Amino acid sequence: MAKPRKPYSISTIRRRVDKKWSIAVRVRAGNKCEVCGLEDARLNAHHVIGRKVQAMGTLRWALQNGVSCCPRCHKYGATSFHVNPPVSMEWFRMNRSDDYTYILFHYTDSLEGKDAAGVREYLLWVESVLDKAIADSACNSTPAVV
Ligand SMILES: [Zn+2]
Repeated sequence: MAKPRKPYSISTIRRRVDKKWSIAVRVRAGNKCEVCGLEDARLNAHHVIGRKVQAMGTLRWALQNGVSCCPRCHKYGATSFHVNPPVSMEWFRMNRSDDYTYILFHYTDSLEGKDAAGVREYLLWVESVLDKAIADSACNSTPAVV
């Protein structure tokens, strides 16, 4: 009889969900920089509300909180999210107004107070949402011209 598989630890699931969030943000944007439109770049998924703002915050895995960016628009350019937050937040408010509003209402959402089973259940639910978002984005994208 096969040995039952040990369940994945919460930190393993969290890492997997972090990766899927990043993929979902970039795929949703058609693998382009949402700010400058650059396609041929190593894209990053930027957290509008940073992961360190709230250790247990659930915006970490909300697609509303992600922007697909090239490195210049993410971290290095004069108007990038990291170098110039006021300018980039204004871009976000103007171009992603529904998500901006979502963030204003959800930035205190947290897993704080959930026990391990609750955290695991939440992460697995988020993972299923992200898997669906990735699959839907892949279906909706225009096939590459060959
Ligand atoms: Zn860019």
